[in-house]
This record gives sequence, C-alpha cells and structure tokens, in this order.
Amino acid sequence: MSKLVIVGTVAFDAIETPFGKTDKILGGAATYIGLSASQFNVDTAIVSVAGGDFPQEYIDLLSNKNIDLSGLEIVKEGKTFFWSGKYHNDMNSRDTLITELNTLADFNPVVPDHYKDAEIVMLGNLHPLVQQSVLNQMTKKPKLAILDTMDFWMDCALEDLHAVIKNVDVITINDEEARQLTGEYSLVVAAKKIHAMGPTYVVIKKGEHGALLFHNNEVFYAPALPLEEVFDPTGAGDTFAGGFAGYLVKTDDISFENMKKAVIYGSMLASFCVEKFGTERMQNLTSAETHKRLLEFKALTQFEIELT
Ligand code: AMP
Repeated sequence: MSKLVIVGTVAFDAIETPFGKTDKILGGAATYIGLSASQFNVDTAIVSVAGGDFPQEYIDLLSNKNIDLSGLEIVKEGKTFFWSGKYHNDMNSRDTLITELNTLADFNPVVPDHYKDAEIVMLGNLHPLVQQSVLNQMTKKPKLAILDTMDFWMDCALEDLHAVIKNVDVITINDEEARQLTGEYSLVVAAKKIHAMGPTYVVIKKGEHGALLFHNNEVFYAPALPLEEVFDPTGAGDTFAGGFAGYLVKTDDISFENMKKAVIYGSMLASFCVEKFGTERMQNLTSAETHKRLLEFKALTQFEIELT
C-alpha cells in the first residue's frame, strides 16, 4: 500500500471566535492533516516535534488513529509550539495574537526509515528549511510532493520558501497568501505566477468560498458546503490538505481528473472541521457521516443543462 509522510507542527492553540474562547487545546498543522488523512486508512506518519508538556493523551489520540509517531520528537525539557489567534466576525479573517516557536526553533526533522520511500509527502506549514530537509531525506523521489505554507514564513523566510516551492509538485495556499506570494490580486494570474515558481498544480483555498485547482490552463472549482454554523475555522486548510493527500494516497492516482476528486474530499472533510472548536469534530468523525456529506456536495453542484 502507498504511504504518506506528513511534516508540520503539533501544537497548543488558544482560539477566540465570536462563539467563544478556548484555553490551550490540541492544534498544529500536522495534527489536522493527520486526523483528516486517517479517514482513508492509509499508512501515515507524522514528522514533528513537541515539548515535555505535550500530554500523553494527545499522543494516544493520534496513535489510536493508526498514525505512525516514530518521527515525533519529544524534547523533554522543551515547550511545545504555541499559537493563538482571534477571528473577526465574518470568520474569514483572523489575527495571529501569539506565535511561540519553542521546540520548533531548533527542530531537525527525522523521517523514519520505513517512510523514506513514501509515495506522497505532505509538507505542512512549517519553516521552509525543515520542509526541504524532509524532501532531502527521501530515498526515492516521491510521486507527489505537496506543500502548504502561510504568511508567517513569507515574512521571515521568503528566500528559503522560494527554494522549496521549486521542488514540489503541488502547492496548497489560501487566497490572501497567494496574493502576498505573487503580488497579484487576480487569483488566475497569481496561480500562473506560482506555476512558474515550480509547482505543476496550484490549489488556492478560499475559505467559505471553496477551493480552486489550477493545472496549466485548466481550472477546477469545488465549493465549500454552505453550513448553518461555523464555530472555528482553525485547521480547515490543513484538514483540506490532509483529505486531498489522503485520497490521492488511497487511490494511488495522481492524474488531474483524480485530483479534482481529491479537492472534493478535502473540502468535504474541512466542512466537518469547522463545526466545533479545534480538532474535536475530526476526532470522532465516522465514515457514515463523510459518505452522507459527499452526497450533499454532489447534490450542491450537479445540474443538467440543455444547450440550445
Ligand atoms: P490553518 O487554520 O489551516 O491555517 O491552521 C491552523 C494551525 O496552524 C493551528 O493549529 C496552528 O497551531 C498552526 N500554525 C499557526 N501558525 C503557524 C506557523 N507559523 N507555522 C506552523 N504552524 C502554524
């Protein structure tokens, strides 16, 4: 069976939305990606770092989802990465209040030997040098390397970011980040510029307005499911990426046609993530629930039209 390697943060998050506020809860890009990909029952490993303060309960939660944690380094005397954010009323934008890198500041990722030949590598949001280091450790060129990033790394490590972007096949990025990376307002023009930086496929996430998949001159659009209640958008982008990558690993098909379906799976899983605070909704998600929601996605976008 194909394998998936994920590198990204495991974290404590403190989140404030118009619906409430949390203390430090489980978060991190790799956590969300892993939980989302675990829906596909594929061999998955997380490469990350945490401090001695990271609760055993969180480690158990991830390993109970059959996620290989041999690449999760625990620095006993260190503290886990901490992020705090506050959402605006429209929930589409947020302010980062605190980013404490802690153990992440000196992190040297180590890909477990039995994952060095993984077919798909998901480089979650992290320092671009760490992302590059994971790619360098692969003994076989992965079929697909996918990269996610955010404004924080564009602000503090742009040159390194450009260097790793050159080496990946797919980038998943949100609309504002695509604009920041390219200096272009039009997402179509931004996607073209990102193609020119290296990736053959560009996924631009637009929050409650869905996601766009660009490949050469083709473009595919997947809506986000209109939900009555969005409690907390944290991790939606990572959950999308985990669903996208997990589906591609499961189906072992990286054609553009299959990537369209991967975008739908990613959007479907992200629609669950936002329903509760943090990772809560993703922890107990069942296949009956995901199946039902896929049908809702289908009904939302399917129509017959007579061309006259
Ligand atoms: P998303 O909402 O998909 O952008 O992801 C939110 C997650 O990203 C949170 O759980 C944070 O712990 C994590 N995060 C926030 N800032 C950073 C950063 N600079 N690098 C890596 N992960 C981050």
